[in-house]
Amino acid sequence: MAAESLEHVVIMEQREKENSFIIFDKEFNVKASTDTIPEEWLDRYRGWINNSTSLLEGRTDFVDTIAHHIAHVWSFEPLIVDGQVIGYLFIDQDTGNFEETRQNLLVITMIMGIFTLMLSGILAIFFSRKITFPLVQARNLTRTIAKGNFDVQLSSKGKDELADLMNNISSMARQLKGYRDTRQQFLSNVSHDLRTPLTYIKAYAALLKDQKVETDLVQEQSSIIYQEAIRMESLVKDLFQLMKLEEGKVSMNIQKVELVDFIKGVTKKVKLLADEKKIGLHVSSSHVDIISSIDPEQLERALLNILNNGIRHTAPGGRIELDIKKLKNKITIRIKDNGEGIPAESRPHIWDRFYRVDKSRSTKQGGSGLGLAITKQIIERHGGDIQIESTVHVGTTFIIHLYRGSE
Ligand code: ADP
Repeated sequence: MAAESLEHVVIMEQREKENSFIIFDKEFNVKASTDTIPEEWLDRYRGWINNSTSLLEGRTDFVDTIAHHIAHVWSFEPLIVDGQVIGYLFIDQDTGNFEETRQNLLVITMIMGIFTLMLSGILAIFFSRKITFPLVQARNLTRTIAKGNFDVQLSSKGKDELADLMNNISSMARQLKGYRDTRQQFLSNVSHDLRTPLTYIKAYAALLKDQKVETDLVQEQSSIIYQEAIRMESLVKDLFQLMKLEEGKVSMNIQKVELVDFIKGVTKKVKLLADEKKIGLHVSSSHVDIISSIDPEQLERALLNILNNGIRHTAPGGRIELDIKKLKNKITIRIKDNGEGIPAESRPHIWDRFYRVDKSRSTKQGGSGLGLAITKQIIERHGGDIQIESTVHVGTTFIIHLYRGSE
């Protein structure tokens, strides 16, 4: 840079009071400076430059002098023309602007810190409310449920874990209500079904006891007493069996049995009943030998329930077909009748205890209303499942799947 240009820079810098801009010649005489600098300061600058490791390389440092309230930056560069040092350019720049910016930044950082703290406080309160509110609601509702009031309504619109929890509590309350209602229904059915035969037994026994009756009448009435006693006995037996099955107290006597012969044997037990109504019973199978691990006594009971129902709900001259299929990992038993069928709205309930499609013919023509509940339990205890397909006036098909294990 030419010496005139440097002098021009010095003139420009004179406007900045905080800065000192000096050009020394190589003997450290001041050639130009931004303002008149006291000799004492010039000596300090000269001393600082001379203390540098090399005068040829220049130097820049923060200098903290007592006279300065804030640190200054001192810097010098040798002025070299044609490879010869002709002087030195020296700058004394205070860091006031930096300091001011630093202070400003500190204030901004503090304000932002306080703001962030406040915001996070508000957010923490908001979210903890958002979390605790449904929990408090859930606690109150579970207390209500514990007191036996199951008609609780939980509002949960979200899709998070809390909404899940609320929905689970709601469905638990619904299930408990369902259990309570069915238990009450169950008890009222039990007492009703036991009361009916008991009324007959009591009435006819009283008649026999008090009256001098003819022999025919005695026979008629005592046979009613006998039938009702049998019905009551079978109802109590069914109830007992179902309770034991539901509680898992029936021990299974699993044996390897050839199913086709076994099912043919079961149908023989209802043949007389079917013959009375001229209902044909037909058994077919995909294989001759279908070995399955079953509890023969239990499965016979399940199949007899289905067959007795089929005969009961099929018009004289009808037909019941049993088909056994062996597939890769399961055995399917289909029991199909061409009877009255089951209306769609009743189909989901036929497995319920005491459920009868036609309530009016309950006790006279029907069974205990426990048959299919027992059947389902037995099939499920075998690890299988049972389904139903039915069309009113066309017929009903029960489909049992038994899953093949090691046999
Ligand atoms: P129930 O002792 O009354 O037969 P179940 O539990 O065995 O009780 O059957 C429940 C109800 O399902 C029956 O009352 C009957 O209305 C209906 N049902 C069962 N099997 C058949 C069928 N094969 N055809 C038509 N309805 C049937």
